[in-house]
Amino acid sequence: MSENHSIHEFDVNLIVEYFSNINRQGPGSPEITLKALSFTDDLSAEAHVADLGCGTGGQTMILAGQIPGKITGIDLFPAFVDLFNANATRLHLQDRVKCVVGSMDDLPFKEEELDLIWSEGAIYNIGFEKGLREWRKYLKKNGYIAVSEASWFTEERPKEIEQFWMEAYPGIDTVANKVAQMQKAGYIPVATFILPDHCWTEHFYDPQVSVQENFLKTHAGNKFAENFIAYQRHEEELYRRYYKYYGYAFYIGKKR
Ligand code: SAH
Repeated sequence: MSENHSIHEFDVNLIVEYFSNINRQGPGSPEITLKALSFTDDLSAEAHVADLGCGTGGQTMILAGQIPGKITGIDLFPAFVDLFNANATRLHLQDRVKCVVGSMDDLPFKEEELDLIWSEGAIYNIGFEKGLREWRKYLKKNGYIAVSEASWFTEERPKEIEQFWMEAYPGIDTVANKVAQMQKAGYIPVATFILPDHCWTEHFYDPQVSVQENFLKTHAGNKFAENFIAYQRHEEELYRRYYKYYGYAFYIGKKR
């Protein structure tokens, strides 16, 4: 979901409805999820993993194919949680892969309960540094955290894209600075890599084209819906114009 904080709360239902129609609510791909996982140690069937801001669980179901333990998804929106749990049931994973409604700033875990914390395209909701610091206590010693996060790829960038991000998510920073933040938050930075463009185009923006057309039909005359789609299309245009300057990076850290 877009890092746009100016959206009014009464419009949230429409946004959730929109994103319920796509498999992923942020840029990513199954290959990239598995690549990030490859930097962590193998987990046993007793392990407990949390996926924070999991959405409908696109990446969680991929993790579940590799991790034998229990996975708990947390998302703020009940509609996403319901879709997640329906997906888990469809894949016969419901006994060990479950999603509950909750907020990433008030997690239902005990200290040192988790072996791995996962969060793709969602930590911006609490803030990268704050999330890393606050979530650390829930990890076992030597546990891992893996998050993807909006990042600048260059030292400088055109004004238009700089301004867009300063409004959408001022926490965006260079990869080097994010790695330093991870280190300061109490983790060994184990690996960092950039998500390839097709995680944004093929896996994120392309599936939205038909969803946008249907959404505009269903909500014809609704000003908010029209503005929202215009914003999504603008965001995509900016990405296609400026993808050399920013994108998502995965940050994998080990609790020390
Ligand atoms: N991880 C998914 C979804 C990313 S979109 C994917 O990569 O496809 C960001 C998600 O964070 C959304 O599902 C949104 O509902 C959720 N979210 C936003 N604020 C949250 C909060 N405070 N606590 C938990 N989840 C939150």
